[in-house]
Amino acid sequence: PVVTRFAPSPTGFLHIGGARTALFNWLFARHHGGKALLRIEDTDRKRSTPEAIEAIFDGLEWLGLDYDEEPVFQSKRAERHAEVAAKLLAAGHAYKCFATAEELEEMRAEQRANKQPIRYDGRWRDRDPSEAKPGTPFTVRLKTPRGGTTEIEDAVQGKVSVSNDEIDDYVLLRADGSPTYMLAVVVDDHDMGCTHIIRGDDHLNNAFRQLPVIRAMNEIEGDWPDPRYAHVPLIHGSDGAKLSKRHGALGVEAYRDDFGILSEAMNNYLLRLGWGHGDREELTRQEAIELFDLSGVGKSPSRFDLKKLENLNGHYIREADDDRLVELVAERYEKSIDRDLLAAAMPFLKTRAKNLNELAEGARFLFAQRPLAMTEKAELLLDGDARLNLARVHEALSRENDWTSEALEATTKSLAETLGLGLGKLAQPMRAALTGTTTSPGIFDVLVLLGRDESLARIRAQAA
Ligand code: GLU
Repeated sequence: PVVTRFAPSPTGFLHIGGARTALFNWLFARHHGGKALLRIEDTDRKRSTPEAIEAIFDGLEWLGLDYDEEPVFQSKRAERHAEVAAKLLAAGHAYKCFATAEELEEMRAEQRANKQPIRYDGRWRDRDPSEAKPGTPFTVRLKTPRGGTTEIEDAVQGKVSVSNDEIDDYVLLRADGSPTYMLAVVVDDHDMGCTHIIRGDDHLNNAFRQLPVIRAMNEIEGDWPDPRYAHVPLIHGSDGAKLSKRHGALGVEAYRDDFGILSEAMNNYLLRLGWGHGDREELTRQEAIELFDLSGVGKSPSRFDLKKLENLNGHYIREADDDRLVELVAERYEKSIDRDLLAAAMPFLKTRAKNLNELAEGARFLFAQRPLAMTEKAELLLDGDARLNLARVHEALSRENDWTSEALEATTKSLAETLGLGLGKLAQPMRAALTGTTTSPGIFDVLVLLGRDESLARIRAQAA
């Protein structure tokens, strides 16, 4: 059975790249009817605050990515990591290194001076630990294979190989007995039963360091199979450079809260960022589960494009259930608002908004107090004869008994004809008077939404 894991380091938010990794892992597990697991890699105690961890849970929940077991906290498993290190040591797959920090610094300085690659030279690999003074602190290092190459058949990258001599005998346990990140990942992946490791390709090099631990443990215990790796190319900014804070790389919660993106738009965008299935653009969650596969993951980095995300978001807003949009828009107001009025207006409002901010902004006129604040452009629509015309509109509409958009349109049109004016000469100042802006739903729909009294009062307030 397939078991995947998402293993974020809590850095304060769930960034876009992490969210996509989470999604791919989740979809792959669901596609195969397997398990999607979550591991919080909180070994950096300074950065791993409760808030940082909460931000990950919150982001995943928003994206609708649920997990099949309680999350694993890496920091709680240090004893188990040390136990595995002890097994490797006992079986001769690891050894104690008594080199001091100063000594190692000297070694590196020499390597730098000789323009050699900086790596541990294995000075304690074959030495007898009894050569060290009793009580000397030591680290435990992995005895990595010498000579030959290690090959990975990566589900995304294809065949990748590294010469074993490039992989030094790195530290598994520090002098204080604490495990290194590299050891912790391998032990946790094994203990969680992970069959597939899907992650950013910035971890491809780590795979070559992690595999020797897996293979050594498999020699000792059996039942430590190589996982299947899939290293997904990173997301780049629109300039082609790796996505970073400089590009405004943000947590997913910023896309939700600040940009007003819907969860399904984010999901679909992330899915299509690096994965494709023919020319399919918008997929439901169910379709994504059915179609997701690792062979559809591209080999080159994808570019993050906020415009595309927003266009997609506009599509999902138009598709979204009105009641849900009412809730999401109401949350964006400081005061409580008339939700029934907002619900009545939603079908007209949602046709034009690319995000929830625009939707909330577009609804603002519904709840505005008289006298309405006017935008500069709206002011311009009230120039010339506009206020005089508004007085005529007011007169005509006051006599209207049938307050429907059809009847109101007919009345306004016939007034325009009588005055020998184009409809716009009346409709534009009406829009300014009724909404204080120059963009709104159709003006006759606005009249109906606001109702007779409020509409007439707003028109009168601007009429000459
Ligand atoms: N914690 C690592 C990260 O957030 C991921 C480790 C892994 O997937 O193996 O980049």
